[in-house]
Amino acid sequence: MTTAFLFAPAGEHTLAHHPEGYERVAGLLPFLAHYQALEGVLQIQPQPASPAQMTRVHTHAHLQRVRTLARLGGGRIDPDTYVTPQSYELGLLAAGGCVAMTNAILGGRAGNGLAVVRPPGHHASADRAEGFCLFNNVAIAARHAQEVYGVERILIVDFDVHHGNGTQRVFYEDDCVLFVSLHLYSRFFYPGLGDTQELGLGSGRGYTLNVPFPAGVGDHGYRQAFELLVRPKAVQFQPQLILVSVGFDAHWRDPLAAAGLSLTGYDFIVRYLLQLAADCCGGKILFVLEGGYYREALHYGLLNLLNALTGREGCLDPLGPMPAPEQDVTNLLNRLAALHLRK
Ligand SMILES: [Zn+2]
Repeated sequence: MTTAFLFAPAGEHTLAHHPEGYERVAGLLPFLAHYQALEGVLQIQPQPASPAQMTRVHTHAHLQRVRTLARLGGGRIDPDTYVTPQSYELGLLAAGGCVAMTNAILGGRAGNGLAVVRPPGHHASADRAEGFCLFNNVAIAARHAQEVYGVERILIVDFDVHHGNGTQRVFYEDDCVLFVSLHLYSRFFYPGLGDTQELGLGSGRGYTLNVPFPAGVGDHGYRQAFELLVRPKAVQFQPQLILVSVGFDAHWRDPLAAAGLSLTGYDFIVRYLLQLAADCCGGKILFVLEGGYYREALHYGLLNLLNALTGREGCLDPLGPMPAPEQDVTNLLNRLAALHLRK
């Protein structure tokens, strides 16, 4: 199976002292090359998304707002989220990159893929940029798969440490997309959404699964959630394509959060999802980068992910496990299983 790889690092979408900057991915390609991780990988060049591709998810007014702010020299579009003079074009490139990767996988040139794109997307909704995100790259890829390839059932798994509120909003009333988000949750932790009772609306009810973890959940809790909830829910749904919002900010060293995952924990999740894709949809799975603000965790995490996609064994984990006890989440997972899984 060929693995596709796309790199859209958005060098000119960056702001001094902001955690979501170009520095995150600077040096990534030489790092991956040092480990021969790109050998035999199909490298896809990003193309800007077309207006038609963008407006499957975003309103004209939203696109216009970002473009106008960029043309005026940039600024804050939300307290957390900046726009530079190049951000509009670079946002189109990230979204279009995900469309190109979807084409590679659904068109048969690749079996699976990894898109390392900036700016991230999962907090952006139809008419709103927030949480470092301008355009929702994964949602745009999903709509493209539906419209162009007639894919009827898409599973989106989001395990960035923050709830994927933008993606949830886009598909909240949609029974063609099963949205699963595993994240830290408290009213005081951004975005303060993603509680167990957010289940979807109308025909979309039951097609949103939120796993709101406490801080310090760690590798075992994540593993249990994938085994007890994510896999059975996905098998019930029978996806034809899996899209993954992968954030490395759930790593225990990340400065923005405290979920407690290790690189070994990440590697388990990635390989578990690859097996799920093999069982449900011929291995068709696309990973798209969201957050991750501790550079070493991000780079090793992406290296391990690429190695898993290309079928190599092993996981590099120079950072080791969280040096603190993990929180038990068995009760939470049992409650969610009762809510979500058919007997
Ligand atoms: Zn995040």
